[in-house]
Amino acid sequence: MKTFSVSTRERVDLVDITSQVAQEVAKSSVGSGTVTIYIPHTTCGVTINESADPDVARDIKMHLTKLVPQDGGFRHSEGNSDSHIKTSMIGSSENIFIENGKLVLGMWQGIFLCDFDGPRTRKVYMKIVEG
Ligand code: ZN
Repeated sequence: MKTFSVSTRERVDLVDITSQVAQEVAKSSVGSGTVTIYIPHTTCGVTINESADPDVARDIKMHLTKLVPQDGGFRHSEGNSDSHIKTSMIGSSENIFIENGKLVLGMWQGIFLCDFDGPRTRKVYMKIVEG
């Protein structure tokens, strides 16, 4: 398993991690296979979406905050139920194909770590499998 860390800057923050993942894939020298990305946190997830226009990530952040407000009358005593709920909505893992040693992503796609209870240092786990 490979791992790297990401420092987020705000309570809700989407950070493009495509280049770090691509770097690990290149180092693995796997030509054809898959990479599984897994986030080992309960208030931070991962998603694939448009990275060309930064307004897309901004709109995702804004709309998730509107859908699940921090002061939603939740019971969990840590006061971060909204972060847990947003993480379950986004999910904790992604699978991406590798061909010719490169990530198979659409032209506009990027991989985003989604922190919903930052700013913090978050871990990204990766399993790169040939086949
Ligand atoms: Zn909590």
